[in-house]
Amino acid sequence: MLVRAGLCDDDLRHPRKGSGSALFCNDRERAYRLSEVRQSPEFRRRRLQPEPICCTLGLRRLPVSHQLSKSMRSLTLPFILCAWPAALVAQNAKAELVAAIDARKAQYAIISDEIWSLAELGYQEHKSSARLQAELKSAGFTVESGVAAMPTAFVATYGSGKPVIAVLAEFDALPGLSQGAVPIRQPVVEHGAGHACGHHLFGTASAAAAIAVKGWMAKSGQRGTLRVYGTPAEEGGGGKIYMVRAGLFDDVDAVLDWHPESRNDAGPGSSLANISGKFRFRGKAAHAAIAPWTGRSALDAVEAMSHMVNMMREHVPEGTRIHHIITSGGGAPNVVPDFAEAYFYARHPDSREVFDLWARLELAAKGAAMGTETELEVEVVNGVYALLPNETLARMVHANLLAVGGVHYTAEERRFAEKIAATLDGPKIDLAEAVQVRPYGRSDAAGSTDVGDVSWVVPNAGLGTATWVPGTSAHSWQAVAAGGMSIGHKGMIVAAKTLAMSIYDLFTTPELLTDARAEFVKARGAGFTYRPLIGDRQPPLDYRVNPR
Ligand SMILES: [Zn+2]
Ligand SMILES: [Zn+2]
Repeated sequence: MLVRAGLCDDDLRHPRKGSGSALFCNDRERAYRLSEVRQSPEFRRRRLQPEPICCTLGLRRLPVSHQLSKSMRSLTLPFILCAWPAALVAQNAKAELVAAIDARKAQYAIISDEIWSLAELGYQEHKSSARLQAELKSAGFTVESGVAAMPTAFVATYGSGKPVIAVLAEFDALPGLSQGAVPIRQPVVEHGAGHACGHHLFGTASAAAAIAVKGWMAKSGQRGTLRVYGTPAEEGGGGKIYMVRAGLFDDVDAVLDWHPESRNDAGPGSSLANISGKFRFRGKAAHAAIAPWTGRSALDAVEAMSHMVNMMREHVPEGTRIHHIITSGGGAPNVVPDFAEAYFYARHPDSREVFDLWARLELAAKGAAMGTETELEVEVVNGVYALLPNETLARMVHANLLAVGGVHYTAEERRFAEKIAATLDGPKIDLAEAVQVRPYGRSDAAGSTDVGDVSWVVPNAGLGTATWVPGTSAHSWQAVAAGGMSIGHKGMIVAAKTLAMSIYDLFTTPELLTDARAEFVKARGAGFTYRPLIGDRQPPLDYRVNPR
């Protein structure tokens, strides 16, 4: 049974002396619950030890007396004794998982650096995907690549039968954000791509966690199936949606993910549903000075649509986000452009609102085409659901993240972090956030993710770790910089350990899966049927290729 109450108070939280060195908070959670039990009439009457109340131990082989205050010791020791031997089995297994990841962390830093340097865009991540597949294959996984009509998608599998536990792995970069691993703005390739969302760390940590768990499964004879889903093009290409639509998650019992962040957090949270697409206008070219009256400007249509959408912002539901870029606006000022293209995103916490917003964007585009006498073509590129949080799984992942602890800087890393912090706007930055784990609590994201679609077909939870200097935003050069050096590597290892320990809990605690499924079914609502927001379109494999 999982601890479901008695959250750690902030004033009880102690910074770790080293990654995964102690488990103050878990022990205090248990102590808190234990004190409740001890005060109960039943306990006083029988003077018996309470039932074991937590299987997500993650205890290390440190003497308990080193971890707890005297008063806490008196409360917790009876519990630990009563939880024997299941607790000890979990303790040892999790310690071995942590040790297995630590033993290969130099290798994982190399792999993540390789993917960071490749910085391949959505659906073009051939080498990055192959690198992760090779690592999983050499560790004993069977890898099926090119799934769901996406050349860079893969499913790596170990074991067989139930339960089926999965972890997601991303690896695509972002255009225009090339940056060296230095604390000043310094692109490696001018206007080149960069890993500003840390997906090089995401994919590598997920593979690292799975490889460690596979080692434990092989040694212990644990039954079940472990899968790594290599999911391309998260940044706008929606790789996971096509894997969900193809039924690749249909037999999965629980799926975990994580994301690079500037803090350590595993609270349950949602995100914004999002529909994005390209509006292409075709007009008539002409000399812009000699015969402009013979031309019809496609760029005018893009500008007219943008203007209408900007006016629309006053009349959209609270919480709406609309943004766009012009991906093509003509080739030369002295030619009336016969082609122009705008790429729009519409977001809202509720996917139904996003449908309505998108319909209004299409109306604006039609109006613009009519007024400029141009032809309109609309391509919905991507559409993702808001994340469906699962508290049962989130509490388990949070307990494991607490056990692992945050990111500890060396003096050199601290100097790097201070230089990055000096470039960031906003309130004063507390670098201690890198080492702290946020208290359990709701944590909604203003962005969107195709994990959203997965979370509506399989119970899901995730976490974030401080791979970036506190205060850093995703999609910034500062995120690329920290992600390409040891701060990013350390955050990645925190994520890998937390994922591995959480997968262990999922395999060994059947009631966890039962409870998570019950919560999931209730949260989706009766009669829910998954329908992808992208309809029946095929993966937009060329969405990162600029139009003519
Ligand atoms: Zn991103
Ligand atoms: Zn991301």
